Amino acid sequence: MERKLFLFNTLGRKKELFKPLREKVTLYTCGPTVYDFAHIGNFRTFIFEDLLKRTLRHFGFDVVHVMNITDIDDKTIKRAKEEGVSLKAYTEKYTSYFFEDIETLGIEKADYYPKATEHVEDMIRIIGKLLETGIAYKSEGGVFFRIAKFPSYGQLSGVKLDSVKAGERVDHDEYGKEDVRDFALWKESKVGEPSWDAPWGSGRPGWHIECSAMSMRYLGETIDIHCGGVDNIFPHHENEIAQSEAYTGKKFVRFWLHSEHLIVDGQKMSKSLGNFFTLRDLLARGKKPRVLRYLLLSCHYRQKLNYTEQSYNAAEAALQRIDDFQIRVQDALEKNTISKVDNIVDKTKEDFDKALADDLNIARSLAALFTFIKDVNTIIDKEGLGKNDKEKIFSTISYFDRVLGVLDRFRWQKELAIDREMVEKLIEERNLARAKKDYSKADTIRNRLREMGVILEDTPSGTRWKFVE
Ligand code: AMP
Ligand code: ZN
Repeated sequence: MERKLFLFNTLGRKKELFKPLREKVTLYTCGPTVYDFAHIGNFRTFIFEDLLKRTLRHFGFDVVHVMNITDIDDKTIKRAKEEGVSLKAYTEKYTSYFFEDIETLGIEKADYYPKATEHVEDMIRIIGKLLETGIAYKSEGGVFFRIAKFPSYGQLSGVKLDSVKAGERVDHDEYGKEDVRDFALWKESKVGEPSWDAPWGSGRPGWHIECSAMSMRYLGETIDIHCGGVDNIFPHHENEIAQSEAYTGKKFVRFWLHSEHLIVDGQKMSKSLGNFFTLRDLLARGKKPRVLRYLLLSCHYRQKLNYTEQSYNAAEAALQRIDDFQIRVQDALEKNTISKVDNIVDKTKEDFDKALADDLNIARSLAALFTFIKDVNTIIDKEGLGKNDKEKIFSTISYFDRVLGVLDRFRWQKELAIDREMVEKLIEERNLARAKKDYSKADTIRNRLREMGVILEDTPSGTRWKFVE
């Protein structure tokens, strides 16, 4: 049976009881632009979305989850050109890094990862209809959406239509706009850029239309939940609403959820301040993926999260307490004939779920976990555990971990025990052997890695590896 869940809807800015429209919850989350490694701010948002999805499933909902991969925009085009490789080869490389990173952080995979470049036909169809109805117009530079014809523009962000002066020109790329508030649905291609043929001329889609097209393709015209970071609210999501609703005449998204930003040492993360971290930067400095997951997870998604050395250490200490507790329970004796934990197990689960049901109040859920630890420790100290209590305690921990995905130390310890540098070195040696057609050496290395629990996958963009049990 599905349990009650309240979520804070950015549309309307209040908590609402969540109910899916159809049998399965339809969830769309804005994915990465694959021009570089994702940074830990991005992962804060992706971990919030992971928590949301796990909570929905924990509460008995079936979920179908789509995350797009933005593999065409100004940045991807520019970087591919700089490296002298095709856009496809360039973005595939960063897409596979992205998948490695989400696995490293224990983020459950989405059901679909559609790529923008593979859905341009859908985008052309939507833009075609918007042109037909006159809500879009072709002009110098591309096709634009006429915001003045969509009166409810601003419903999500609260941005007032007249707060930006009509006629003012900002972006030299979009000089054909009738009104500064209009946004590009289609951009005329510049020389040497990837382009697609459309009835109104060749070019490429604007960023916003990608998400509308892929959301509708995989999840239908009206979906339950759409997520992203707060920076997506305006203009990205506002524009998605305008173009989708103008196209279908139906509500596009029922619940909009946005996570606040991650900041570093109290400041915005930026390359110029030198506080810009990718996951890989942090791992190279000896930070542990499990601790990072805990840290990114443990702050409520609508609060800013300040990443500091201190907050990292606090997360590590919290996990240490949880691990020590599990070891202690493992070693404890079940001295009594009757259970000593029945009552607290039920109460803890109830408190944990109640907090999650209140717009994913993770701080309170974790407080329930730590109260449980304290209470069980007192029982072990004073009277000892009862028959089958260990199993009850561990199944309670597993119950929490379905949602948190961070408590099972064995899973994470095994991964940590492998020497990443050594793995990379062996892969390099194997690739060298393959290049020299020394396949027997290459196979020996592959087998050696397999024994370490590492399996390899050779892809057009290089050899990928992952750890298996
Ligand atoms: P992008 O790759 O820039 O399209 O971003 C992917 C996701 O990360 C989007 O949902 C952004 O809103 C989110 N995001 C970007 N920067 C941060 C940050 N500092 N903290 C949290 N989320 C972020
Ligand atoms: Zn998007």
